[in-house]
Amino acid sequence: MPPAVLARRLSKRYGDVLAVNELDLEIQPGECFGFLGPNGAGKSTTMKMMYGRTPITAGELYVLGLDVHRQMRAIKARIGVVPQEDNLDPDFSVLQNLLVYARYFGLAPAVARQRATELLDFVGLSEKAGANVEQLSGGMKRRLVIARSLINQPELLILDEPSTGLDPQARHLVWSRLRELKARGVTQVLTTHYMDEAAQLCDRLVIVDRGAVLALGTPRELIQQHAGPWALELRLEPAHHAGVLGLAAVAAHEAVGDLLVCFLPGQAEAEALTDAVRRAGIPLHGYLARPTTLEDVFLRLAGRTLQED
Ligand code: ADP
Repeated sequence: MPPAVLARRLSKRYGDVLAVNELDLEIQPGECFGFLGPNGAGKSTTMKMMYGRTPITAGELYVLGLDVHRQMRAIKARIGVVPQEDNLDPDFSVLQNLLVYARYFGLAPAVARQRATELLDFVGLSEKAGANVEQLSGGMKRRLVIARSLINQPELLILDEPSTGLDPQARHLVWSRLRELKARGVTQVLTTHYMDEAAQLCDRLVIVDRGAVLALGTPRELIQQHAGPWALELRLEPAHHAGVLGLAAVAAHEAVGDLLVCFLPGQAEAEALTDAVRRAGIPLHGYLARPTTLEDVFLRLAGRTLQED
């Protein structure tokens, strides 16, 4: 089986902006692969090149072994797309949105109706089949877009920020459906700027910034390689940061405004450093000792947090 996605020195330029910069990537069939990065990193652009919304500027891109230059029609028949914006048709009911979409794939009406009914059940919207799209909550609309993306039984699902703007319960519902699809063998490529989403869903991910890959690996590998096991967040005047770092052997640290994040081997070291800061009389505004996350990986690699930009 060819890779689900293969990119070689893939670039995209919009005028003066180099949105994607010589990206090399291989996504395997069956995996859930994530693009994590701040706004403007080039995540959406990369997705759009995969599903034929925008042409590539340079390099090579193969989806399911097919060349995006020459075989986009064949690619579109075998992939599902959940775009960032909810482009549902407001003039149609929930069920009709699926049936109309099914026509693009040439599905026979009876097949389309059966699949649409099953998919509404899958995303928990059976009771809303006759409702107008405008009557749905944000979370329901997102689930409907996911159902719509599955109407052609795709081998590969491309999801651009599947849960942005949803409340926590709606996000968990979306995540559970995506995990179920993965269990059925559907390859998934998704973008997110939520590190918890990436950690929940992705087998592997890349952290991208300014069109380039900063790191690639499983969430666990990335955390081990780039952040270490434990973080101590200290809130204190930047003038005191150097004094804190002189109190213990801190393997690595990052400073963002009044926040100093110290990366340490374990909880005991984090507690010891907090005690040492107190004993030294350094005024602390707050502190938190916690296991490291992908957010720390990003902070270390890009020197800023995902929310900043
Ligand atoms: P992300 O999805 O990571 O937020 P995008 O792929 O949307 O990033 O954008 C990457 C860069 O390309 C940004 O600098 C953005 O302003 C620019 N960009 C995206 N789409 C267009 C477009 N249609 N025309 C011009 N510039 C664009």
